[in-house]
Amino acid sequence: MSRWVEGSVTALGRVARRWGIATTNGAPVPGARARSAAPGRPVLHLEPPPPPETVEGAAILDKCRKYTRAREVRASGLYPYFRPISDSEDTVVVIEGQRRIMLGSNNYLGLTHHPKVIEAAERALRRYGSGCTGSRFLNGTLDLHCQLEEALARFVGKEACLVFSTGYMANLGLVAGLVSRRDVVYLDKLDHASIVDGAQLSAGDVVRFNHGDMADLERKLAAHADRGALVVVDGVYSMEGNIADLRGLLPLTKRFGAALAVDDAHAIGVLGPNGQGTAAHLGVTDEMELITGTFSKSLASIGGFVAASAEVIDYLKHHSRPLIFSASLPPASTAGTLAALEVLQEEPERRARLWANARRLQAGFRQLGFDIGPTQTPIVPVLVGTVDRTFLFWRRLFDAGVFTNPVVPPAVQPAECRLRTSLMATHTDDQIDASLEAFEKIGRELGVI
Ligand code: PMP
Repeated sequence: MSRWVEGSVTALGRVARRWGIATTNGAPVPGARARSAAPGRPVLHLEPPPPPETVEGAAILDKCRKYTRAREVRASGLYPYFRPISDSEDTVVVIEGQRRIMLGSNNYLGLTHHPKVIEAAERALRRYGSGCTGSRFLNGTLDLHCQLEEALARFVGKEACLVFSTGYMANLGLVAGLVSRRDVVYLDKLDHASIVDGAQLSAGDVVRFNHGDMADLERKLAAHADRGALVVVDGVYSMEGNIADLRGLLPLTKRFGAALAVDDAHAIGVLGPNGQGTAAHLGVTDEMELITGTFSKSLASIGGFVAASAEVIDYLKHHSRPLIFSASLPPASTAGTLAALEVLQEEPERRARLWANARRLQAGFRQLGFDIGPTQTPIVPVLVGTVDRTFLFWRRLFDAGVFTNPVVPPAVQPAECRLRTSLMATHTDDQIDASLEAFEKIGRELGVI
């Protein structure tokens, strides 16, 4: 019996026991009381047992009552999270009534406001309605999902593709779907949380290796050489902006019979001759077996995908719980993504502009003396230091009309807090220069430069 079927049966059994009903095969659950039943019908007893007594102040909620950190930061005025945007014009957003340059978006190609993307989403909304109300597996597959899968598979150079409802779920679905009990999954220490969570959800063992450290990975692969192995890396590391060494990883994983997966969340639309991602950028598309990605960045929507051989995709379709047990991508998002994928290929000048902007901002920061680490992409982190200094820097920039993303533990080490900036193709030179000016003034006042 496959794992997903086993899962549903076990869950059904649990529910049946909790409510004291007979299971669907008619066997009464021990303790279930029969009320009345037509001859030959399974016995159903629908009276639930009394709920457990409500305990005031349940112990498990103690941690919530004791959690004061967010309140303290809010009281200091430096709290940067959950700030509602009330209007968005692409590179400029309105937050708390003030227009601010958006220097912290993953909308790399600026396609969220492209007329073709908006029109396609609107058309789909009218034709198919507002949601799919079911999983891909059952009632939730649209012809649009299949078209998008075909287009993406062609685009990244793989045989087949599977669309998930978010990039997070695509990683969860790939890793937990493939890694079984005797297998080992190897994660770069800077891999995205969705990969880490996928590994934890899987039935296999998890081994982490130092970021980009081939010798460390080799030692660890050798230690479990007799077991099924999957190595997962980010194509572009989301907090650093550096690119994975797929050319080094491919022969190493091959030598140990391990599969290699790359998460191209930040590489689709950004890297490669046509924006096809990290493998295309490094000239290793044919060798890369597993590619995942998201629609929430260059593709200007929400959703995610896994691209691989037809066999792998067919296996995942029947074993990937985040696909099977969650509703599918809504029509407007699916059509919007399809349109964005077309525009991405029709308008290569957007990618050229994105890179020109990245070079301008990187050079500007470096000239001013900021530490931007090893970035090679439009993700440009500015190292600030402690959490407090980072929140203060963030707030001063916010007041000066520049929106950035503060990155603090556990996402990074406590002394390596940073402001993550990221570029869009639609930023103007003036917006970049104005942002650099604000960074310079505040950076000097706070002693960062
Ligand atoms: N992988 C990486 C590297 C990411 O940065 C993100 C999003 N920040 C994801 C996966 C998850 O994508 P989504 O937001 O579409 O769930």
